[in-house]
Amino acid sequence: FGTFTGLFALQVAADPEKTAVLCGDAGISYRELDARADRIAAALQRDGVKPGGAVAICASASIDYVAVFIATLRTGAAVAPLSPSATAEQLAGMIADCGASHIFTDAAVSAHLAPVAAGVGADFIALTEGARGAPLEGWMAPEGARPEPVGITPDMAFNIIYSSGTTGTPKGIVQSHRMRWPHNQLTDPPGFGPDAVGLVSTPLYSNTTLVAFLPALAGGGTVVLMPKFDARGFLELAQQHRATHAMLVPVQYQRILAVEDFDAFDLSAFRLKYCTSAPFSAELKAEVLRRWPGGLIEFYGMTEGGGSCVLVAHEHPDKLHTVGKAMPGHDIRVIGPDGRELPPGEVGEVVGRSGSMMTGYHGRPDKTREAEWISPQGERFIRTGDLAKMDADGFFTIAGRAKDMIISGGMNIYPADLEAVLMEHAAVADASVVGVPSKDWGETPVAFVCLSAPDAASADELLAWANAKLGKMQRLADLRIIDELPRSAIGKVLKRELQAGYAAAG
Ligand code: ATP
Ligand code: MG
Repeated sequence: FGTFTGLFALQVAADPEKTAVLCGDAGISYRELDARADRIAAALQRDGVKPGGAVAICASASIDYVAVFIATLRTGAAVAPLSPSATAEQLAGMIADCGASHIFTDAAVSAHLAPVAAGVGADFIALTEGARGAPLEGWMAPEGARPEPVGITPDMAFNIIYSSGTTGTPKGIVQSHRMRWPHNQLTDPPGFGPDAVGLVSTPLYSNTTLVAFLPALAGGGTVVLMPKFDARGFLELAQQHRATHAMLVPVQYQRILAVEDFDAFDLSAFRLKYCTSAPFSAELKAEVLRRWPGGLIEFYGMTEGGGSCVLVAHEHPDKLHTVGKAMPGHDIRVIGPDGRELPPGEVGEVVGRSGSMMTGYHGRPDKTREAEWISPQGERFIRTGDLAKMDADGFFTIAGRAKDMIISGGMNIYPADLEAVLMEHAAVADASVVGVPSKDWGETPVAFVCLSAPDAASADELLAWANAKLGKMQRLADLRIIDELPRSAIGKVLKRELQAGYAAAG
């Protein structure tokens, strides 16, 4: 059983002077990162942190973020990486929910948390100047300090990650060491070896990012952190550091490919790009494959684990409309509203089971039970809340979230089908379909579209074009052109905002 911390220690011993993490002008070697994590771990132990405890981090990406992450694991406590884009009240709730003894923040997050800080039970530690609490440098144990070694077993909590909150209040998902390693590494076949340079430009609190940056460190590679994403900056960093791997969400691919002189950047070192988190259109995948050197792998899954799908896009150019097949060792099935398994070709809810499943929602056994599906053989699966169908080759096509399904005149309409049609139009750069109340139909689909160039098409033109291609029952009642779709920090479209905006605009 190889824990992440164990593998990281092997890399420290193998090549101590190798650069582990780069961020802006700063860099740290494996030896220095190891020593810094030890000093932080020793201080956490001095403050009483024990196996079974929890330590929260809410900050933008930095070298010390990584050091605190590793340090916490060394004490046997779980890391709770929190999203700075959550509201102050939500964050206070999460800190209380996971029972964190410490919260590490930077100046921006401290200011954001100020209104609730007095009520937060955890000790604040300041990662940057101007942040609340004891400055890290003075708080951590003296140079050369080492924590008391603790035994780590596979079922101990590794981290508590709060879900994105796309469908409601974020849920605290407890992931064990077993779930994290080795089952949940994205890199299994391609392998992040010591020559890997992983460019990380998604926020460090998200599951999406963790599955990308942890393997790079466990494999002895170099992680380049980009705390604030911008498309051109990404290309510059990739070229400068000769990035070999990157994990991006679909909207980032879209923005990067839209950079005017994209083709002038030298991206020849790329071996693999990954994508996950949100629907990734077949057109965009094809464009990535055509214009960006190296392979492309898409993952479908959720923080809760259970089942994940993987599409090795460069090997299956005919399957770009899918999210691929179940990952090895993952059992993925589709069930109907009555809880019975459906045959291939039928749309139903995705349920999954694998070696990497959450222990449960933190402190919410009721929610945990709700999220379970028990097979006729008595095996425990996790329900995804996503709708999909499987084709005869075992490839899954996502139809959207069950909560976003539109029921119009008694018929089920899957927004993803309509979005896929809209994306085929050359003038459409981005599209999202939501249901709005309708007197006659109960609910009816409307589209929000972003154009690939100003005035590339009119709303009437696009509406007529799409409706000519759509089935009679799927036709759009309305189409609006907007500059940008509202998205979360990890690139998920906030459909509830579109619906609210539509209602408000009348
Ligand atoms: P919450 O559960 O709080 O509503 P969330 O489900 O968005 O938030 P995550 O665990 O970050 O939180 O995201 C998992 C979800 O993301 C999946 O259930 C699915 O809807 C979507 N998703 C992930 N990968 C893909 C993909 N490749 N294509 C389409 N959708 C995806
Ligand atoms: Mg979810």
